[in-house]
Amino acid sequence: MLIFSPTTIRSLNPQPLPYLSFSHSISLPLPLRSLPTPSKSPHFPSFHINCIDAAQPFDYESHLKNRYIQSTSLKIAIIGFGNFGQFLSKTFLRHHHTLLAHSRTNYADLANHLGVSFYADPHDLFEQHPDVVLLSTSILSTETLLKKLPFQRLRRNTLFVDVLSVKEFPRNLFLKYLPPDFDILCTHPMFGPESGKTSWAGLPFVYDKVRIGDEESRIKRCDKFLDIFEKEGCRMVEMSCMEHDKYAAGSQFVTHTMGRVLEKFGLESSPINTKGYETLLNLVENTKGDSFDLYYGLFMYNQNALEQLERLDMAFESIKKDLFGRLHQVYRKQLFGDNNGEVEKKRSLAQKLLGNGSLTEPPLDNVRQDGS
Ligand code: NAP
Repeated sequence: MLIFSPTTIRSLNPQPLPYLSFSHSISLPLPLRSLPTPSKSPHFPSFHINCIDAAQPFDYESHLKNRYIQSTSLKIAIIGFGNFGQFLSKTFLRHHHTLLAHSRTNYADLANHLGVSFYADPHDLFEQHPDVVLLSTSILSTETLLKKLPFQRLRRNTLFVDVLSVKEFPRNLFLKYLPPDFDILCTHPMFGPESGKTSWAGLPFVYDKVRIGDEESRIKRCDKFLDIFEKEGCRMVEMSCMEHDKYAAGSQFVTHTMGRVLEKFGLESSPINTKGYETLLNLVENTKGDSFDLYYGLFMYNQNALEQLERLDMAFESIKKDLFGRLHQVYRKQLFGDNNGEVEKKRSLAQKLLGNGSLTEPPLDNVRQDGS
């Protein structure tokens, strides 16, 4: 705590001071050592300055900072304030943007707690004239929702952004339903509340500037939005929505599928987890928080997903064939010269391993015929 006597202040301002008034910053070279005892003069009652670093209305630096923040901040309206919408809003707020939200569910209390203004009615939200409208709804509900939004209440050149995990689908919907004056930025932050919990540094952020007007203000607005992710250290990847979907089906859809398969399988931690096993446990952890709607959306609205699912299925069958093919060979070898009881035991073991026994059930009768 710093305590200044009126005499110290007086040396800065020759006029008697009924109250303190500075026209500029207080960051002057004040003597910090050997402070004199507070004055007992009736004109200058003793007073204390407890903190000189708080932003004061007359603080020039804080004025500059506020002006900078205002010039770089955006009014962002999030539609779909569920899991992912809330997750994004926390970071947007840290970057001093003004956040508004609308969702099917009433999240007013939660939004209020975060510092986001919640509007139950999209008409009220759009009347606030946000710079950016960000769609973070489930893939499945996007079209129904878009058809109902009161675009006429927005400013003529609003920027529409989506964060859906598939890209061609929202791109086509935006081009179909949005007024032609609106700018369109399709994005996919390729991380979620689990994988981006501690930091976004190094995590991929894919975007496609589908339609951004030529005016400088429009270009800047889009850049300001992208800046959030850039400043968080994301790996910025500009690519077309079509390319995104091709790559994402091979990586993201497969990741989600394996995560869900392993979750159903029931992986459990043990005292002797290997690094590989830890990776599998992390995969389950990362994917189990996502809704089935999200996963189903990845499948339904990425035309490459079905092919990937079939490839996965074929790969699994092929590995089973390799395993049971080898088992079959060992089994055959032991069969010759083995007694009947042992043969029966091995046969039932093989059937157990096979599950339904349909794929490569050892053709015992054929073996006998072959051997005879
Ligand atoms: P989600 O299940 O895909 O979507 C939930 C959101 O959609 C909620 O805001 C929900 O609103 C809204 N919604 C669902 N059905 C609706 C309907 N019939 N009408 C209106 N709104 C409806 O889960 P999410 O994780 O929050 O994902 C949101 C979007 O972000 C998705 O498009 C997803 O692909 C994308 N994304 C997610 C992640 C992730 O890791 N989670 C990562 C990147 C991108 P209410 O909550 O109000 O019901």
